[in-house]
This record gives sequence, structure tokens and C-alpha cells, in this order.
Amino acid sequence: MTAAEARPVTSRGAELTSRWDAAMMSNYGTPPVGLARGQGCRVWDVDGREYLDLIGGIAVSSLGHAHPALVQAVTEQVGTLAHSSNLAMHEPGVRLAERLLDLLGPAIPDARVFLCNDGAAANEAAYKLARRHGWAADPSGGRLEIVAAEGSFHGRSMGALSITGSASKRAPFEPLPGPVRFVPYGDAAALTAAVTERTAAVFLEPTLGEGGVVPPPPGYLQAARTACDRSGALLVLDEVQSGVGRTGSWFAMHHTGVVPDVLTLAKGLGGGLPIGACIGIGAAGRLFVRGDHGSTFGGNPVCCAAALAVLDTIERDGLLAQVTAVGGRLARGLAGIDHPLSLGVRGAGLWLAVPLTAPVAGAVEAAARAAGFLVNAVQPDAIRLAPPFVLSTAQADSFVTALPGILDRIAAEAIVTDRDGGSAPAAAGATAPATRTSTE
Ligand SMILES: *Cc1c(COP(=O)(O)O)cnc(C)c1O
Repeated sequence: MTAAEARPVTSRGAELTSRWDAAMMSNYGTPPVGLARGQGCRVWDVDGREYLDLIGGIAVSSLGHAHPALVQAVTEQVGTLAHSSNLAMHEPGVRLAERLLDLLGPAIPDARVFLCNDGAAANEAAYKLARRHGWAADPSGGRLEIVAAEGSFHGRSMGALSITGSASKRAPFEPLPGPVRFVPYGDAAALTAAVTERTAAVFLEPTLGEGGVVPPPPGYLQAARTACDRSGALLVLDEVQSGVGRTGSWFAMHHTGVVPDVLTLAKGLGGGLPIGACIGIGAAGRLFVRGDHGSTFGGNPVCCAAALAVLDTIERDGLLAQVTAVGGRLARGLAGIDHPLSLGVRGAGLWLAVPLTAPVAGAVEAAARAAGFLVNAVQPDAIRLAPPFVLSTAQADSFVTALPGILDRIAAEAIVTDRDGGSAPAAAGATAPATRTSTE
């Protein structure tokens, strides 16, 4: 007997949950909400409950949900030419590559693009560029090492996982490609010491994303650039999360003036359609030779049309300025919250984290959802916000107004739990908001 048969079905959410549990692998656990549709910054769950979407499918839905420009571009392209493989070129793919190269800015006149499907694939391509670079320098294997940061996230495929700075994520899947040397994120001296003539590439996020939206100290990326120049290693900036407007600039690197050898993009690029890019700058753009790498679906016409619609809409509607303005207002509002659980705010643009004084982020995420806000417990002690760029000031203000009450609820529950002799409500399931429909 399945769970659905054993229990009366009380809601569509409960029904979807039991079917999920019966059909899906356990790698995501059981998501606490089932979404049915979205419009702008609002989404509705399968039972019709409305939420303000402040996480945007993890920094992906940059234009918001069901944006007319995205709908039109994808609809037209899927009815014209949906797929070509890499046996043929097509206008949307070439145009997207040209647009991305333009957006790099005048400081980067010479670069080349490889299009793929997601962030892990963009970093896999960068990893292979690093191997190509190291092999050219020393075919006997003297320049293989990758330097990456503790707390970093670069994806789940074997290469991307091997450079992800979380030992618990890597451990069950070792041995992974290597050697990889991990250094504490933000420590310029440690990074400089780790980069040698054995280093093929340094992989860095301009700000840790999955690590909790943690910006490095000023000068850190410059130090990485200097260390790579000194040793001949490639500098790879992973802008899968930070890129394409998220911080109020086209790329986060534009805030620093640092030019990498390789730039990787994905998440927000397609506005919800799966596309990634690995951009090789200068000589790194010419490392691959015919046959070195490929992807059947990568840069397919539909996803390229979606990405072009995203870039055009950001430009046409002045969304970079809106990200800066609304993000700044949201950050100031969050920073102004005086609550024993909140430590303020960090991040830039519409890419923010609220650090907490206790590991209760899962409970805060659940309480926020019960109050009608989708946020993300990116770390046990940090809540991440990465809303669509079309977030209005009224929508931003509504969360700033609601957050103290949400935190009060967690603080009150923690006291009750302590009295009961239980543990602090650290896990997402520790509170039982009305929308929690799991049948476990
Ligand atoms: C999400 C993310 C990735 C992985 O992207 P996927 O599309 O999930 O493969 C890589 N790097 C960074 C910085 C990310 O945030």
C-alpha cells in the first residue's frame, strides 16, 4: 500500500508530497512546498496559496515568473527551430555569444564563448580549459593543481564537485579529479602562498553564494589576479550565481576591476530556461581545439532565445539600476531590524543574506513560508534572498515589515522547546507552518 492509499488525501500538496516520496530519489529530501504557477514576483502553490518569491528558484528567475518577453521569445523560437545540435550553427546562439562578449565591456576586447546547459557544465568546461592550459605548459603533469576556496560551491558533477569547498559534499564520491588545494575564502595571503608554478587554475566565486552570500575583503580578487599572473595559472571566476545583473552590474567582477581568464555563468542567464556559458578571455578563449569538448543540448536555440530576452529586458527596462535601488532599500531595511536573532545583512544588489545569531535558519525559512514569503536557509545561520529583478519597493518593504514578527515566532518557539527539554528548532521541519503538507 502506498502512502497515498494509506492516508486520506487532505490537499493537493499532501497528495503531491506522497507521490514525490514514492517516485523521486532522496537527494533533495522532500521539498516543503509544491509550486503550480507564478506571475512576476508572486508564486502560487498547488493548493492556491500565494507567496512573495524572494528566492527566485535560487537566483534564476531574474525577470520574475511568466515575463511576457520571455514567454514570447521562447514561444516563437520553439515554433521555429527548437534544436540543432552542434552539427549546425544558428542565429540565436551566435547572437547570444556576441551579446555576452559585448557585456564584458571595453576592458575585454578578446574572448570566446562555450554554451552549455547549467552551472556545473560551465565549470566543467573551465576545468578542462585549466587542464588544457596546464598540459600545454607541462605535458608531463607538472601543472595540474587547482586552487579553490573552503566554503565554495561550483556544482555537483565530478569535476565541479572536486573543487567545491565542502568536505562533507565531496567525501562519499571520492576519489575525485585532483589535485585540489583548498584555502580559506577571503584570506589573500593563504591564496598567494598556495598558487605556485604547479597551479593550473584558481577557481573563485566573487562572493560565496551557497556559502552564505559572503563577500571577500576588498582587494581579495586583485590578490588572486596577481598570484595567477606571477605563477602563470588561469584565474577562473565562477559567476554562475553572481552574474547577469544579480549584484546591480552585469557581472560582479565589474565591481572589482579584476579581469579573469575564464568566466562562468548560468543560473540567471536564461531567466528560468537552462543555459550556462564558459567564457575564455584572451588566450584562454583559444585553448580548446576541435574535438576537445561539446554538448548536444548546450546553447540550443530556445534557451539562447530566452537568454537574449533576459539580456534585452534587463537593458530595456533599466533593471540593473532597479536591482541597485530596490536591493539597496531592502538591505537598508534589513540592516535596520533590531532583533536578538538578526545580525543585519550582507551582500549586494538583490543578492542578500540575513546572518542569524543562532542556527535557526531552517525554522526561519519555514516560518517565513507560513507568513507568505519564500526565502532560503542557505546556511544553518543565514537566510538568503535572491528575488527577481522586478521586485517592487512595496514588495521589498513588505518583507522588511514582516521579518521581525517571523523572528519573534522562532525566538518564542526556541524558548518553548528549551522548556520542553528539546533541541533548538534548527531544521526546516522543526516548525509546523500551515503549508507544511508532508505526510511523514
Ligand atoms: C549553483 C551554482 C553552481 C552550479 O550550477 P548548476 O546549474 O546547479 O549546475 C556553480 N557555481 C555556483 C557559484 C553556483 O551558485
